[in-house]
Amino acid sequence: MVLPMSRIALITGANKGIGYETARQLAAAGVSVLLGARAPERGHAAAASLGARFIQLDVTDEESIAGAAKTIEDEFGVLDILVNNAGIGGEFARPSVTPLSDMRRVFDTNLFGTVAVTKAMLQLLRRSGAGRIVNVSSELGSLHVATDRAGPIWSLITLAYPASKAALNMVTVQFAKELIDTPIKVNAVTPGYTATDFTGGQGFRTAAQGAEICVQMALLPDDGPTGIFIDDKGTVPW
Ligand code: NAP
Repeated sequence: MVLPMSRIALITGANKGIGYETARQLAAAGVSVLLGARAPERGHAAAASLGARFIQLDVTDEESIAGAAKTIEDEFGVLDILVNNAGIGGEFARPSVTPLSDMRRVFDTNLFGTVAVTKAMLQLLRRSGAGRIVNVSSELGSLHVATDRAGPIWSLITLAYPASKAALNMVTVQFAKELIDTPIKVNAVTPGYTATDFTGGQGFRTAAQGAEICVQMALLPDDGPTGIFIDDKGTVPW
């Protein structure tokens, strides 16, 4: 099937970093971009720089999510691509000293926010002939990577963020299984260690490079995979 020219994509947390670059690259590919951001001033500025439509969307706020879904329903009636990118790191502290409140805050954004946005947008995605959901995860959420004694992540002992992304990986699998008989594909990606505000500017990759796998999975052809975890070198062990 030839995909329609004007696919519509919503990217959460797209006012900066990997989300902004994903929006920019999708717009460059001819996709109509709905640039999600929680702060109107930052969102409007980012959207204007891309000629995109700003959508106010705080992934931890049910009213904001419902408002975003209603706006898309009223203006477009369909959604082709959802990139669940919004994420926070929280405290990188050892499990024994991580406050539960911090862990809840990280899960509210990275996990429950993604689930809430996905559920709110699902009806619109079902109307697309080729729905795509991309969950921006992390290799830090891989149990395989975390338990590899010879690997670079073995020495990283921290609770909230990796646990939230491990749970997000399972959320990806479960949505993919539920939607297996539909055209909607649901995949988790990891952008790699990318220099953004999230990392204090540290990282081996630029935001543009980090965004490439998000864009690739957003534009998957109909015979592409679903329910996988992938970076731009290939599948990543869960
Ligand atoms: P970033 O530059 O800090 O951008 C994060 C984005 O998420 C910002 O736009 C931020 O908005 C938004 N956000 C945070 N909480 C939100 C909420 N409640 N509702 C809506 N938007 C919210 O970080 P990044 O590096 O681009 O990270 C993007 C994604 O990549 C995250 O899911 C992160 O876990 C993942 N990731 C990053 C790396 C890396 O090395 N950078 C590696 C693996 C995975 P504000 O500007 O309003 O705060």
